[in-house]
Amino acid sequence: MKLFSCSACGARVYFENDICLTCGHSVGFDADALTMAALELAPPGVGLFSKVGIGNGKDAASHVRYCENAAHAACNWLVPDDASSTLCKACACNRTIPNLSEEGRIEAWREVEQAKKRLAYSLLRFGLPLDGGPHKAPPLAFDFLAQGVTGHFNGVVTLDVIEADPVERERRRRLFDEPYRSLLGHLRHESGHYYWMLLVERGGAIEPFRELFGDERQDYQAALAAHYASGAPANWGESYVSAYATSHPWEDWAETWAHYMHMVDAVETAEATGMEPRAAGLLFGAAWPFKKYDVYRQESFDSLMERWVPLSLALNNLSRSLGHRDFYPFVISAGSRAKLAFVHGLVRAGVR
Ligand SMILES: [Zn+2]
Ligand SMILES: [Zn+2]
Ligand SMILES: [Zn+2]
Repeated sequence: MKLFSCSACGARVYFENDICLTCGHSVGFDADALTMAALELAPPGVGLFSKVGIGNGKDAASHVRYCENAAHAACNWLVPDDASSTLCKACACNRTIPNLSEEGRIEAWREVEQAKKRLAYSLLRFGLPLDGGPHKAPPLAFDFLAQGVTGHFNGVVTLDVIEADPVERERRRRLFDEPYRSLLGHLRHESGHYYWMLLVERGGAIEPFRELFGDERQDYQAALAAHYASGAPANWGESYVSAYATSHPWEDWAETWAHYMHMVDAVETAEATGMEPRAAGLLFGAAWPFKKYDVYRQESFDSLMERWVPLSLALNNLSRSLGHRDFYPFVISAGSRAKLAFVHGLVRAGVR
């Protein structure tokens, strides 16, 4: 993710902030401009704001409000005053939220919302449709349930909000023998199933998909049961990003998709914060100056990998020096690299 600054005073503000701690202006995320905006109450409106220091002409004159979910401190995104919904682009995808009168639910939901906003940021940055796209697929929707089963069905991503509890998440991580488990990881994975439907199934890419990932028509439930009974083949690392990816071609795609999103977003953040080895000129020295480009718009997959590999190694090293487990506990083999390149190609083609 990019770094954001307050459009009123220029100080750093974070994606999750609703106030600038330096100048005291309210701030919110403008999902059309994909940036944070400082706000000033627009008289005489109730909850109506104008953006400070952003845009000109019509944009400067137009008013915004906070998303309805701001009332629960669960969202800091902005909604144009003339929009048909009182929810922001990301919250409009919510079909079900937990019962907020139950103990602990609102805290869990807020964490889930933060992860979902990061997912939504990436999808909007790529320019991927949230509404089903040109092939008239169902819109992307979320059911955030307590004690639901995390998964995807026909456009609806279900997430068990219990996953927001770090103890429970760690218990499950160990139970399923996973190197990594996070809310954002879950959401990226499940969104992969949704975009499989859009980009592969309806995007006319089923044959090349099957060549790389295998035939998805095999019995899904039986495949998962077999995976949980006997685990992944010993040599899974040669062609899969994770052990779970071996369970079924759909899961392989969703795992690969999630990794692709991790990569792109982490490279953007590293570049923005000036801590990317390649951007800092550490890899090739000053003789080969690094040319900045928008990773969310980059056509060449190879150049993305050239940035991701040194970055992930540096992150792991940094993690270890602080006494943590590896930041990115995965190795990208030639087999998974080809699958990542396939995901990249479909994303590029899908937004072109
Ligand atoms: Zn400020
Ligand atoms: Zn919202
Ligand atoms: Zn899945």
